[in-house]
Amino acid sequence: MNKPWLKPIFFDTLRAGLFPLATHEEGVVRMYHCGPTLYSCPTVGNWRSFLFSDVLKRTLEWGGWKVFQAMNITDVGHMRESEDSSSEIDPIQEKAKEKGLSPWDIVAHYEKQFFNDMDSLSMRRPTYVPKATEHIDDMVLMIRELIEKGYAYESNGNIYFSVKSFERYGNLSKNSIDNLDLGHRVDINADKRDARDFALWKTDSKHLMKWDTELGSDGFPGWHIECSAMVNSLFGNKLDIHSGGEDLIFPHHECEIAQSEAFSGKKLAKHWMHCRFLLVDGGKMGKSLGNAYTPSDIYEKGFTGAELRYSLIRGHYRQPLNFSFELLKDSRSALKRLQNFIQDLEEVKEVSFADEDFVKKYRDSFVNFMQKDLDVPQAIAVVMDLVKDSRKKGIDNIASSAKSFLSEVNEVLGIFVEQDDSGSQKIEEMIKERNKARDDRDWKKADRIREELLGLGVQIKDSSSGTTWNKMN
Ligand SMILES: [Zn+2]
Repeated sequence: MNKPWLKPIFFDTLRAGLFPLATHEEGVVRMYHCGPTLYSCPTVGNWRSFLFSDVLKRTLEWGGWKVFQAMNITDVGHMRESEDSSSEIDPIQEKAKEKGLSPWDIVAHYEKQFFNDMDSLSMRRPTYVPKATEHIDDMVLMIRELIEKGYAYESNGNIYFSVKSFERYGNLSKNSIDNLDLGHRVDINADKRDARDFALWKTDSKHLMKWDTELGSDGFPGWHIECSAMVNSLFGNKLDIHSGGEDLIFPHHECEIAQSEAFSGKKLAKHWMHCRFLLVDGGKMGKSLGNAYTPSDIYEKGFTGAELRYSLIRGHYRQPLNFSFELLKDSRSALKRLQNFIQDLEEVKEVSFADEDFVKKYRDSFVNFMQKDLDVPQAIAVVMDLVKDSRKKGIDNIASSAKSFLSEVNEVLGIFVEQDDSGSQKIEEMIKERNKARDDRDWKKADRIREELLGLGVQIKDSSSGTTWNKMN
């Protein structure tokens, strides 16, 4: 049995306060974070939320917990309002039509890029990355049960969840059912008994991704039921932490709670954690504003994945983070300061007296800050204080304890690039793929791979004898 030494206290959105982490099984954490909808590359705003989940997982593992982490891929049914807001569209299908490809091709293309970005940002692969389309049977089973229990109804081929049938609806977002939808778009739809009801399943013979199931033919799922079904299939009733970006609290997570708890009669999750949004240059981020940066956009400007990662995790997850090129530059110099310090520590020769106590007090306070609701900014400040204070004092006697502390810091934050052989192998493979794209005259793909390599801090040089590469400082 795992005996974790870290005793985290996390803010729980549902209970609106700080609570010690409680789990279904001693020493084990099962966590689910809502992942991307793959019709384009996730933006740095999305990555802030994904990296929050990564730091959470790393912190728990460092603290001795056994972690099972899931992050889903939404590959069907995440409808958006059309531009004139008169109808709903499926952005994956829209992209497929635009590119003359199938929706499956679109998802496969962006999925590959999603994992490349994940690697360039040193995000560890989640234990599970389930896709919605792999869990259609689980959704059908859940929906049938919800109809049987009187929580859902069929109307004109579509199946809706009746919000009034679930009295806790609104608890997470602190809305009472009666006040709901004030300030939110009310979906006027003649098929619904109540405008607040949401779709579990839709029928549309023109939809490209559709299934013949016990619910009927030509059907596809609503977005909310996908996450409920994946959680149920992976974790049963044992989910400890459900997390996501704060924009998902309503309606997505509210709907997940209603479906899952009506289905099972059990609580969906013990803790709800939400990461706040990202501002760009103090304002909103948006495709129409031209500032919806993806990691590749940032790498193209000469910044590395480590610098981007550090920029996105350095704020407290419960505070909005203001993203800017100034922030990236500041992250670059902070990382440089740390790298120089590590290098100096490496060069220290054997000493006759090692002072273990000096570093211990910094480590203790790093532990306390990470333990208390993942206070990354304070934890980083402690590390920077250690660098500054030990420079004053002299580093010879503390080198070995400082090195081991910094390797723990990296375990948790993942901000220093550690080059190993598998890394080199991956780089070689990426270069091969890029050169093949150049041979095929697929310049867009070749450029994209070059940007991804820049994100890994790798510069490439082409010459008549082939392509060489080196790591940038
Ligand atoms: Zn979700």
